[in-house]
Amino acid sequence: LDGESNRRLGLFMHQQVIVPRTSEIVDHFMRSLRRLDEFTVVTANDAGLQRLTGLLQRYLLGLGTHVESFEYFEQRLLIGHIHHRMGIPQPVYQTSFRALQCELIRNIPSAVREDRAGYDALVDYMLKVIALDVSLAVESYCKSRTCGLEHTIETQRGATERFRHMAVTDYLTELHNHAYSRHLLAEKLGESRSSRKPLCVIMADLDQFKQINDTHGHLVGDHVLRIAAARMVAAARSGDEIGRYGGEEFLFLLTNTDLAAAAVVAERIRKRVGNDAIRHDDATIRTTVSLGIAEARDADTVDDLIARADAALYAAKLAGRKRIMLEK
Ligand code: GH3
Ligand code: MG
Ligand code: MG
Repeated sequence: LDGESNRRLGLFMHQQVIVPRTSEIVDHFMRSLRRLDEFTVVTANDAGLQRLTGLLQRYLLGLGTHVESFEYFEQRLLIGHIHHRMGIPQPVYQTSFRALQCELIRNIPSAVREDRAGYDALVDYMLKVIALDVSLAVESYCKSRTCGLEHTIETQRGATERFRHMAVTDYLTELHNHAYSRHLLAEKLGESRSSRKPLCVIMADLDQFKQINDTHGHLVGDHVLRIAAARMVAAARSGDEIGRYGGEEFLFLLTNTDLAAAAVVAERIRKRVGNDAIRHDDATIRTTVSLGIAEARDADTVDDLIARADAALYAAKLAGRKRIMLEK
């Protein structure tokens, strides 16, 4: 059909069927919808019913006029989005368009029916515009659902990432937690063995930390732990892995680093943590750190290497604290 025939038939459909019979068509159609279980999501409450009735009236009044305009297609595409958002399930979606088609044809007045050619042309036109709507609305319904699914997947992905972060991170300092520090160390021991590159660990323990808690309280103790952790991160190199191994103990994994190079890093950490006092409200708190360093050997397990770094740390404590000791 050319544009002029579309325009003429659209007008005819409105004059003969839609305008005089809008409320009958809508009422009858709504009654048939209410019989479908799948529509109860929409028809169960008055607000949903009213909304759907209003939408339907507007839909009918726009049906089949100006069919070649951009706005017409845009409006039809919107229908699928709205239906999806209202929770109308797709299986009954096409059935309802068909019911509407029957409703329109049933409401063609008898005067028009008597003119066979006019009746056929009008029915043809009705079938055509409804078919167009089904295809456009189904297309946008699916698009809307896909967008919804993509959003769900995104949200899920975000949640998974948050859980992963929580599983490997120390809540107080945001450093690696104990379990993840050991996991990383096992990995790095394997890598160091196969690449024949040195690996060092530093065990660092804040000095006389119990006194800080006893004097200023646990919350201030937590604050000092966070500041000390941030200073350690600032003093370490970018590739160094840092974990909170225990209450006030920190484990550093230094890949491709021998004892001499590790001692340089450890000295930077020692200075950075101890040099400046930490302020909290009115309190000024001084804290220092002792560090023990060990280098991986061929047969080392995670526990072997940590035990040697711990022994060196213990020696640093015995020697008067706030210092670095290399393994024996
Ligand atoms: P040393 O120099 O020998 O290491 O002495 P220290 O007092 O640091 O060592 P000690 O092991 O006696 O005490 C460690 C303290 O760290 C005791 C504990 O209450 C405190 N601590 C452990 N975890 C936390 C924490 O998450 N927050 C706070 N505020 N304190 C903690
Ligand atoms: Mg301590
Ligand atoms: Mg300790």
